[in-house]
Amino acid sequence: MLENMNEKCAVVGIFGHEEASKLAYFSLHSLQHRGQEAAGISASDGKKLRTIKDRGLVTQVFDQNKLSTLSGRSAVGHTRYSTAGDDSILDAQPVFARYDLGEMAIVHNGNLTNAKEVRDALIKKGAIFQTFMDTENLIHLIAKSEKEKLLDRIIDAVQRIEGAFSLVFLSRTKMFAMRDRFGFRPLSLGRLQNGGYVVASETCAFDLIGAEFIRDVEPGELLVFEEEKAPQSIKIYEPQPKRCIFEYVYFARPDSNIFGQSVYETRKNMGAELARSKPVEADMVIPVPDGGVPAAIGYAQESGIPYEMGIMRNHYVGRTFIEPTQEMRDLKVKMKLSPMVDIIKGKRLIVVDDSIVRGTTSRRIVRMLKEAGAAEVHMRISSPPTTDPCFYGVDTPNKEKLIAANMSVDEICEYIEADSLAYLSEEALLRSVNAVDESYCTACFTGKYIV
Ligand code: AMP
Repeated sequence: MLENMNEKCAVVGIFGHEEASKLAYFSLHSLQHRGQEAAGISASDGKKLRTIKDRGLVTQVFDQNKLSTLSGRSAVGHTRYSTAGDDSILDAQPVFARYDLGEMAIVHNGNLTNAKEVRDALIKKGAIFQTFMDTENLIHLIAKSEKEKLLDRIIDAVQRIEGAFSLVFLSRTKMFAMRDRFGFRPLSLGRLQNGGYVVASETCAFDLIGAEFIRDVEPGELLVFEEEKAPQSIKIYEPQPKRCIFEYVYFARPDSNIFGQSVYETRKNMGAELARSKPVEADMVIPVPDGGVPAAIGYAQESGIPYEMGIMRNHYVGRTFIEPTQEMRDLKVKMKLSPMVDIIKGKRLIVVDDSIVRGTTSRRIVRMLKEAGAAEVHMRISSPPTTDPCFYGVDTPNKEKLIAANMSVDEICEYIEADSLAYLSEEALLRSVNAVDESYCTACFTGKYIV
């Protein structure tokens, strides 16, 4: 596998607007939760592409001056999720290249599962790579394709790659958006107020820039954007939907509509299912902010147990450098999440979080709440045990580090020092997302991989 993959990232494309790069900037801002390591935008003025990308948050990478240099009526943008240890600027997107047909920029969310084979084959034929990103494969495949037109070359290239991808390509005069046949990662199409178009990973981007949601880009569909024309739809593959269920569990923003449903409502359903299937006597339901909030509301409404804000989250915690002693480590945790002592003291708590990955967060939270005087702490998780890593774009660690791959629920409960622990069942999760068939990928909970 390649060292750096385009994991939980966000992509956006704006077409047919005088201030395309500004709209891309605002869209990326609302998609910041999908990646905080690096951000970038490429814009085209019809003759030339210009790219700015750097490490950091969207607001750190761009200012008024920089955006004003990205002129033109089309733009693509990206935010990159941090993978530990490597934050090279080379691995920021868009990936830009000059080739025989001119210039192009690509943004990508997802993981290509055959990236190594494709890369090795290209290197054998003399290709030189600058980054570890699987996205660079696409540049080479397009540049080397023997087809005459860019559209045909893109079709050629996407037929050579496998895995999860929501992609947006920008050339000097056109934009292309494509979702893999499984539709693992979301990608939606919207209309700008002036009649131009936007594609983005999540619809919360549309709300911010005043765009109207049209529909999702279909799994296996390629959309072509040209001035003065409605987007042209080309079916590259028969759709075989396997949408990522973890987008609903954790990843997407609650105010987005993805895969045709509200993320917020879906998470509330998970909480209600959890309350029905894993009840426990308690005085209040509290969420682990922010991920656990909608499910905790659903749990509280269904059970009739009052919802309270028992943990305060500080949103301004950047990287902290205090580590060595246990005391300092505890302080570090409390910098981000601190208990509302007066609310929880002497109370029996139901604490709702969306998932347990390594188990460190839950363990710290239970300890913190007990130290603050909670009488009982009952952890309720709004998804099944995370037992298997993801190869399609969510950054889950390998199996050895996934606590549920190595311990039973009782053992995990003991490890996190909770009075009880219960997860949502797979069936209840599927009911929560209104799954009617096998159209969701649940590999992180079941180990059933598709590609
Ligand atoms: P852990 O401490 O490793 O058990 O992580 C669990 C916490 O991380 C939960 O509060 C989740 O909301 C959050 N989480 C779950 N999946 C991810 C992910 N892929 N990236 C970052 N955070 C995550």
